[in-house]
Amino acid sequence: MKAEIIVLGSGTSMGVPTLGCRCAVCTSTDPRNRRTRPSIALAWKSEGRDRLVVIDTGPDFREQALREGIRHVDAVFYTHAHADHILGLDDLRPLSFEHKPGTMPLYADQETSDVLRRIFEYTFSPNATYPNRARVQLHKLEGDQATEVYGARFQRVPLMHGNLEVAGFRFGTAAYLTDMSSIPEASLPLLEGLDVMILDALRPQPHPSHAAIPESLGWVERVRPRHAWFTHMSHEVDHEETEKGFPANVRLAYDGLRIPFEL
Ligand SMILES: [Zn+2]
Ligand SMILES: [Zn+2]
Repeated sequence: MKAEIIVLGSGTSMGVPTLGCRCAVCTSTDPRNRRTRPSIALAWKSEGRDRLVVIDTGPDFREQALREGIRHVDAVFYTHAHADHILGLDDLRPLSFEHKPGTMPLYADQETSDVLRRIFEYTFSPNATYPNRARVQLHKLEGDQATEVYGARFQRVPLMHGNLEVAGFRFGTAAYLTDMSSIPEASLPLLEGLDVMILDALRPQPHPSHAAIPESLGWVERVRPRHAWFTHMSHEVDHEETEKGFPANVRLAYDGLRIPFEL
């Protein structure tokens, strides 16, 4: 199936511009240096209907959905429970009302589900009485499990984010590997034959829980996707300057980027 990745946000947890900062990237007029919190959407058609899956709903989800004209969501996959990936969950409410109560699927591992249930207690508690809560239901997806959404297979890819195991996802010929400092050996076979790989590349200098740009270039060499796009970038990354000297198949993602691929 033909499908498209929409980069909703390509920034790190603080976003770019970073609050209070007047550096060259934060004050840049290049729109590619404005980065909202990290998330992507996947769009395809099945049985004549538009299908849309979102990976992570961060604090900028509402603005991202407005910007990209998202009017419908079929499912959400969560990579992990850090604030920049989950705090927009409540903004799924209006998009969930077309689903029957408690049916819009959210896929997450146990640890992430526990945090979501705690933070959004009024959404998930069986005793919740709040009438306009999101009509969502958590489904467990752990280890290297896979699930299907309207004919598209989503494969969880275990990654390490510092000491924390988080989820990457593979779907068809593409994969999204945000927030990772390394790809475990056992996950590499899940990433064979990729056309598109979107991966964490926080900044030029090393960081304990994110791949730095030289490491990310190393992972591209190792995994060998046809095209790689970097994401989760901080204000230490100027779009144009940083891309100079990259291999031809490696580029920086930016908010609003659309990447066609085969699902
Ligand atoms: Zn993050
Ligand atoms: Zn700055």
